[in-house]
Amino acid sequence: MSRLITVSNRLPVQLNAKGALVRSGGGLASAMSALDHPDQLWIGWPGQLDAARHDELTWRLRVEQGCVPVYLDDELFEPFYAGYANATLWPLLHYMTDRAKFEPDWFEAYRVANERFADVVLQEARPGDHVWVHDYQLMLLPAILRERMPSLTIGYFLHVPFPSHEVFRVLPEREHLLAGLLGADLIGFHTFGYLRHFRSALLRGLEQESLPGSAVVGGRLVRMGVYPIGHNRAAFDKATAAPAFRSHLGQLEKEFEGRRLVLSVERLDYTKGIPQKLASIERFLADHPERCEDTVFLIIAVPSRQTVEEYQQLTEQVQLAVGEINGNYSTFSRQPVHFYHRGTDLEHLAALYALADVALVTPLIDGMNLVAKEYVDCKGAPGARPGVLVLSEMAGAAQELAGALLVNPYDTQGVSEAINTALSRSAEDAHAAMQPMRQRVRNVDAAAWAKGFVDDLGREQRAPYDPAAEPGDELLSKLASAAKLALILDYDGTLRSFTAKPEDAVPSDETLALLAALAALDGVDLTVVSGRPEAFLETHLGPLGIAMFAEHGYRCRAATPLGGPAPAWEDTNPRADVSWASAVLPILEMASSLTPGTHVEVKRSALVWHYRRADPEFGAWKAGELLGELTEVAANLPVEVNHGHKIVEVASQQVSKGAALDAVLQQQTPDLALCCGDDRTDEKMFARRDAHPNLETIKVGPGETRAAWRVPDVPAMLAFLQRLLDSRR
Ligand code: UDP
Repeated sequence: MSRLITVSNRLPVQLNAKGALVRSGGGLASAMSALDHPDQLWIGWPGQLDAARHDELTWRLRVEQGCVPVYLDDELFEPFYAGYANATLWPLLHYMTDRAKFEPDWFEAYRVANERFADVVLQEARPGDHVWVHDYQLMLLPAILRERMPSLTIGYFLHVPFPSHEVFRVLPEREHLLAGLLGADLIGFHTFGYLRHFRSALLRGLEQESLPGSAVVGGRLVRMGVYPIGHNRAAFDKATAAPAFRSHLGQLEKEFEGRRLVLSVERLDYTKGIPQKLASIERFLADHPERCEDTVFLIIAVPSRQTVEEYQQLTEQVQLAVGEINGNYSTFSRQPVHFYHRGTDLEHLAALYALADVALVTPLIDGMNLVAKEYVDCKGAPGARPGVLVLSEMAGAAQELAGALLVNPYDTQGVSEAINTALSRSAEDAHAAMQPMRQRVRNVDAAAWAKGFVDDLGREQRAPYDPAAEPGDELLSKLASAAKLALILDYDGTLRSFTAKPEDAVPSDETLALLAALAALDGVDLTVVSGRPEAFLETHLGPLGIAMFAEHGYRCRAATPLGGPAPAWEDTNPRADVSWASAVLPILEMASSLTPGTHVEVKRSALVWHYRRADPEFGAWKAGELLGELTEVAANLPVEVNHGHKIVEVASQQVSKGAALDAVLQQQTPDLALCCGDDRTDEKMFARRDAHPNLETIKVGPGETRAAWRVPDVPAMLAFLQRLLDSRR
């Protein structure tokens, strides 16, 4: 069985005051230990420690806890963790663009820290191990691991929201982060909304297309999934069965006797919306003076990032607002808001959940929010009172907890009314709404969540390559031994990757050298068959002296004879009718003026509408409409309408790459021919397999094909041609 290595920024262990190593009670730690996986290791940062103690601690962490530490010195840790992770990524991923800080040095520290994590993982990992990387501090790690040990199975889970592309694109390093995540085999999110945003960022940021559950990246399948995390049910079951829980509950019942308890529990973080919540509480007290006496709002705000000035300011702001409300609405014996700026133990927390009539969970944005789930679960604890959950619709948990009163945390009046509705609910109604939610949160707890992800990670998935297989040694030796071999190669997407501007997609020096060497081989005839105009081919490939077809076969130029001048370009079919262009051109021009980022290319035998630079979804939509319109117009014209790679093309029926291929084979009469291409126009050549039994065909990239073989991308195509060259030398 392969080993499971968990990688998170923090290790789930702490040194207590007596110097003992104790497991922290976090949900992730307990979920991983609940997994039925015998061979596990956890890699992460153990906290800032005196360097003199590193050796001792490393040994103890491994032996006592199955953990391996990643040590980061202060000079790296500060800009990595306090800087890029928490002052740039955290606010940005939570839509708080105005709070995000951008320091050029921070990203470099983030990159180096991710490399350090990779170093430690790679010291431990064996080929074939499963590695599960967690959260926004380690977004570059999957790609680093993929590059350095490709045989690893890598999972990644983002515990915070993935924002809409309009927000994500604010990050100067957005492409690096996306590429970092794409190193994984499986990427998990809490909600479908976050997954949707991630796909949109891939499409717009990297021009990477995807299906809802997967993307093919360099021929590798990257899966994406929705795995809403659950709370630590086992810990709450244990806590609510403990005597301490019963005594806390008894104590709290006495303390709040005759009053209704509205409870809030959260870290004191600006994403949690505590000032907005206080504004709603004040509104409620103003609107419902009759409730002031009998309602108490208890806010447990767990201190967080207290050394950061922004968090100190927030604490002051909250304390001031609490003071103001209490000043305005307290009576001599009672004050409406109790504010605790400290954490509490689990039995006490569970007792508060069990007692509270209302939980007021109103983050401005939250990846999931476990407090909501814990409250729901504790409503089944012995001695629990019925309760109502008021939940922000901006929390990931809102997707799952349909029985909650959903509120917009920015809507002061709406939240105030929801508090009143919650307090007015009958015990029966509260119980009826709570029951199904409780069933759900208990079924999908932290342990079930971890198992779901790890099981999916282990599931074997192959890239959607069938029926065409990767060409191997068998094809290569056939090509190597053919006495007379014809090579017929497409250009864009086959010998050169696409670029935003087609004019930039010129052949590299290495590719030109490869083509020249292939053309110089004895018994090999090389022909390029492209959709490009002849001027482009002449400029960039002309000096090779090879045979070329331009405009999908409309124009051609024979190979330069040894020592002779280059032959002239000519029409392959001088009788081809191109009079239809005047009817079609206005339609394409109209599409171009209505769709920003598109243009029309006029060729001798074809008109092409390019939408590579348009918004990918808008472009695809308009292409669909254009195709519909053109199909009607083209019905009576001697043309073919093709939907190619980010193009819609109207081309003369009398011209095609298939006809060009026929002409080449008829003229060269090879023993064997190899034809390579990537898009629909090349399928016309692949389709000629039936007519030419000695034709081998390779498709470049994903998608349906009639080719017999497939390579994932342009680099793989070039590597194959290089092997062919080596085999014939
Ligand atoms: N919590 C805690 N001590 C406390 C109060 C709360 O450990 O005094 C826990 C709470 O039980 C919950 C977690 O803190 O599991 C908060 O998780 P949540 O998803 O609600 O928010 P996050 O802090 O992760 O943004």
